[in-house]
Amino acid sequence: MNAITEIVAVGDYSAILYERIGEIARISHNRPGQRNAENTPLLDELDKAVAHAVADPEVRVIIIAGTGDHFSAGHDLKEAIGERRHYTVEQRWAYEETRYFGYAMKLWDSPKPTIAQVQGACVAGAFMVANMCDLVVASKDAYFADPVCQSLAAASVEVLVHPWVMGLRKAKEFLFTGERMTAEEAHRIGMINRLVERAELEEATLDLARKVARTPAFALSLTKRSLNRTADLQGFRNALNAHFETHQLSHVTEETRLIREQGSAAAISTGKSAIV
Ligand code: ZN
Repeated sequence: MNAITEIVAVGDYSAILYERIGEIARISHNRPGQRNAENTPLLDELDKAVAHAVADPEVRVIIIAGTGDHFSAGHDLKEAIGERRHYTVEQRWAYEETRYFGYAMKLWDSPKPTIAQVQGACVAGAFMVANMCDLVVASKDAYFADPVCQSLAAASVEVLVHPWVMGLRKAKEFLFTGERMTAEEAHRIGMINRLVERAELEEATLDLARKVARTPAFALSLTKRSLNRTADLQGFRNALNAHFETHQLSHVTEETRLIREQGSAAAISTGKSAIV
């Protein structure tokens, strides 16, 4: 019955697409020519759009997606090198605390349920964003990776959500090797909820969103609050806060300096998007 619900693009955004589909808000990374790399305007717009959807009483569920072939290749490395290469510790801390850690936590704390819709690359900073959503639907071409330990000698990305969504053993393998995880494996280990054909991704995600939207809204938000609080009682928030600070240290090590001097151009040319 809802399959014919009109899709309406709203708002004045340039790096994301904000669409309303009935009671669902779909917020898409929208720089497909750059594999949806998350530059500052995109992150700011994503945060603004999530806040808008949370405040809109007509929105029941929020989908975070990406237009084109990829969910997102992660933080925009070219922008980072161009604009933040010589940031002081203080400047980088402030930037990453607001835009990487802060925005991700706002997504986690959203009182409305969030669903990541993932195809193609879901790498580094984008892995972080997708996994801060409550549910994940991925197509069979999707893959996940966090190679920044290898490419930039940084301690993972800013939000170490990995052990919470893939288990400690897998998280160690994933981060120690930087290797990709296929969507099939992600589904097998329970990191994603649904695995579908690429052609079915959009409709499968909307179908899940519609089912969630039928649940009474306040009960849903209270349930989410309790589930997130369960994670907090297990140390989720404290562990993430601690890692953010460790991550900042890893930005100013001798290893990082050497890689910056020798490898930044190579990292870009190989298409690895990551953090700096
Ligand atoms: Zn960082």
